[in-house]
Amino acid sequence: MSAVSAYRLTPRVTKFLSEPHKLLVGGKWVNAVSGETFPVLDPATTDEIAQVPAGDAADIDAAVTAARAAFETGPWATMKPTDRSRIIWAIADLIEAHADELAELESLDNGKPKKAARDVDVVGSAEMFRYFAGWATKIEGNQIPFASADPGAFFGYTRREPIGVVGQIIPWNYPLMMAAWKLAPALAAGCTIVLKPAEQTPLSALYLGSLLQEAGLPDGVVNIVTGFGETAGAALSAHPDVDKIAFTGSTEVGKLIVNASAGNLKKVSLELGGKSPNIVLADADLDLAIPGAADGIFYNHGQDCTAGSRLFIQKKIFDKVISGVVDRAKEIRLGPGLDPETDMGPVVSEEQLTRVVGYLQNGVESGARPLIGGKRHGDRGYFVEPTVFVDANPSMKIVREEIFGPVVAAIPFDNLDDLANAANDTTYGLAAGIWTTDISKAHTLAAKLRAGTVWVNCYGVNDPAMPFGGFKQSGWGREMGHEVLELYTETKAVVVAL
Ligand code: ADP
Repeated sequence: MSAVSAYRLTPRVTKFLSEPHKLLVGGKWVNAVSGETFPVLDPATTDEIAQVPAGDAADIDAAVTAARAAFETGPWATMKPTDRSRIIWAIADLIEAHADELAELESLDNGKPKKAARDVDVVGSAEMFRYFAGWATKIEGNQIPFASADPGAFFGYTRREPIGVVGQIIPWNYPLMMAAWKLAPALAAGCTIVLKPAEQTPLSALYLGSLLQEAGLPDGVVNIVTGFGETAGAALSAHPDVDKIAFTGSTEVGKLIVNASAGNLKKVSLELGGKSPNIVLADADLDLAIPGAADGIFYNHGQDCTAGSRLFIQKKIFDKVISGVVDRAKEIRLGPGLDPETDMGPVVSEEQLTRVVGYLQNGVESGARPLIGGKRHGDRGYFVEPTVFVDANPSMKIVREEIFGPVVAAIPFDNLDDLANAANDTTYGLAAGIWTTDISKAHTLAAKLRAGTVWVNCYGVNDPAMPFGGFKQSGWGREMGHEVLELYTETKAVVVAL
């Protein structure tokens, strides 16, 4: 029996799943030009839950043409900022009104527990639109006094103008929330968009498409093309009439996108992988640090670019922290995301299962020891046991490479002086965690860590107002906060001779 029929779905989701899925291009729902579709699978059962259009270069081209028309001539470009703001706010309201449906779809498509989808993904998406609804009316330039001209000779000011047509390529780990992170600031800035969801998880973006229309977004402002990375994604990043690409995904694909973007030198922002250190000092409050270390890696099944996958623990407390993390791993109930008893669902796809299991085997072969987990769970669906490795060293693949699964490598340390170097010994620099009761150590270490976000006595806390992005090969640019508006606007200097 498929998960679709094993759990009672809301009537709206049942209806949505029973209808043919289409691309949103220029305000119309259309089939792919090729007529091709591809299956969407429930990762808990591997059953097919939908067929969606396999958009390719022809569909991307049509979507970019629609976005260009909406940018140049549509009402979006000339609308009062307060009206844009109202529409973006209405999107947030509609997401809330459809919270149950969106959470259910996300759980079915991605595998995550429905409760997490609802409390984190759906709530986070609504809040993102709300925050950026506020920014739509606050995008300003400056009046700038000239430095080397006679005072009074010139009047100089800057304007912040929308960058134009934006391509947004998003991953499968937080499908709806990644769409919100990308769409909300671009809409606030006045851009028009072609969104390409991940092929593993296209459903919540298509559902959102209808809500965008219901909120009153003019035709062509957001176009949604489902399809594969190598075809639709590559065509979007190479398209000569796209002004900017915003990408979240693997570092490997990020590099492909940079190359593909070179043709018209479109602007590129990238939010890529991570191998984040989560550091527990001997003076930490272990009632906070132990659950923080466990949730830092096991939340979202470790499918998180900020996952605390290298757990540095000061020697004195190593055994205590590790046994606490293992105890928490033991309590995690694996199951389908739609089962209310489930704490951890399957990983998203067979490819991801193979990849994570490959790392588990490689860890053991290279001499690391799993204290818990270490293999696939069951033989149906893509479940992986939460795994805690000890006896790991910095040369091992499980310590160097992003696994994107519920797998942590625990590494003891003694000396605080060497700690920052060890934690920074990675090509990534997305996030880090520090657990300590010593405020001085917390701030000193926070300054030394080469990471875009440092969490102290918490982990994984994001907010629409806080900038997010990576040092080193974790990316280019910052999403969220006012900083993201730099990604979606161009600065124009206007000089007037007086
Ligand atoms: P993962 O490896 O975790 O699946 P990816 O980085 O491959 O993550 O995927 C993230 C997004 O990038 C998805 O929407 C995917 O379709 C897209 N993508 C994959 N390959 C390419 C590519 N060559 N060009 C553009 N987009 C791509």
